Amino acid sequence: MIYLDYQATTPVAPEVARAMEPWLEGRFANPHSPSRWGHEAAAAVEVARKQVEKSLGLKGGNIAFTGSATEALNWALKGTVEKAPKGRDRIITVATEHAAVLDTCEWLAERGVDLTILPVQADGRLDLDLLARELDERVLLVSIMMVNNEIGVRQPLTAISEMVHKVGAIMLSDAVQAFGRVELCNGPDLVAVSAHKIHGPKGIGALWMRKGSEPAPLIHGGGQEQGLRSGTLSPMLCVGFGAAAKLADERCTRDYDHVQKLWSAAVKELGEGWVINGSVEHRYPGNLNIRREGVDAARLIADLRDLAFSLGSACASGSGRPSHVLRAIGLDYREARSSIRLGFGRYTKQHELVEACTRIAAHAVAQEKLDA
Ligand code: PLP
Repeated sequence: MIYLDYQATTPVAPEVARAMEPWLEGRFANPHSPSRWGHEAAAAVEVARKQVEKSLGLKGGNIAFTGSATEALNWALKGTVEKAPKGRDRIITVATEHAAVLDTCEWLAERGVDLTILPVQADGRLDLDLLARELDERVLLVSIMMVNNEIGVRQPLTAISEMVHKVGAIMLSDAVQAFGRVELCNGPDLVAVSAHKIHGPKGIGALWMRKGSEPAPLIHGGGQEQGLRSGTLSPMLCVGFGAAAKLADERCTRDYDHVQKLWSAAVKELGEGWVINGSVEHRYPGNLNIRREGVDAARLIADLRDLAFSLGSACASGSGRPSHVLRAIGLDYREARSSIRLGFGRYTKQHELVEACTRIAAHAVAQEKLDA
């Protein structure tokens, strides 16, 4: 199996697995209990918290652990609406956001929030003049992701945050695909991340909150996480997240250079006839989303079962619907259906990626001949 689905999830780093292991069985104490064992578990959680915060590199706030980035995004959106000052009832987001943002915003719109979903340009980038025209004193929050999970396109979040702050609104960013891969943009007040996208365990995420921008709690109970997110923390998952974040911090440049080389090798090997979906310039290079006239991407995936790659996104692949992101950048139904996403990273070997591209290209040509 050649694994090329790094946007869906990443392999757990061996260092992470080793760090987590003692906390699964022997060191099982509740980190919120007053025993010595409890204190030890709590100390491990705090070390992990600092590792994640250091790796994020954001100033003026701290994180609360959550069960996933989906939870962090739900909390950021719903909890901010819960605390909204009178007269601020608008949320602005973008058509290419993850379902964790879009579906939550739609849910809020059904309950009275005035929702604006902005289109993107053909390269997947937001037109900042369009955003400027939408911003006013009624805007409570703007939610825009840093790196898109389907097409890898990066948005200029530092500039966007400045615009949002000028009207006194809160800037939320889904940094799930950016964290550990590119330097995070300073500016957003709330930032959601997930461990399993940075070679950590599944089942843990975090919301970074600038001081003063904390959303109201959604989950009530024991008052953990500064009273903002109740529920017993898992020291094993926190330690794994911390170890993954530390590793990402140490290896950031090396991993990025590796991914850049992989991108060039893949593009060269695929050869003529493929179009890259989304901006090439403003992009994380570990995401190669491509299409080819006449290709049936679903058939390609079914024929090449020992290669793990995906249609536009893991979610869209499951539903059978063409990806909303590809539709938002102007692809018609047929173009979206002929698109695949190759995602690679730290542990991808160049020769494996090249082999996969050779086979994908050959199968696409064979499909063309068969259908001619
Ligand atoms: N946002 C983006 C951009 C993602 O790629 C994902 C995961 O697919 C999520 C949010 C949700 O993250 P989690 O799996 O931690 O809920």
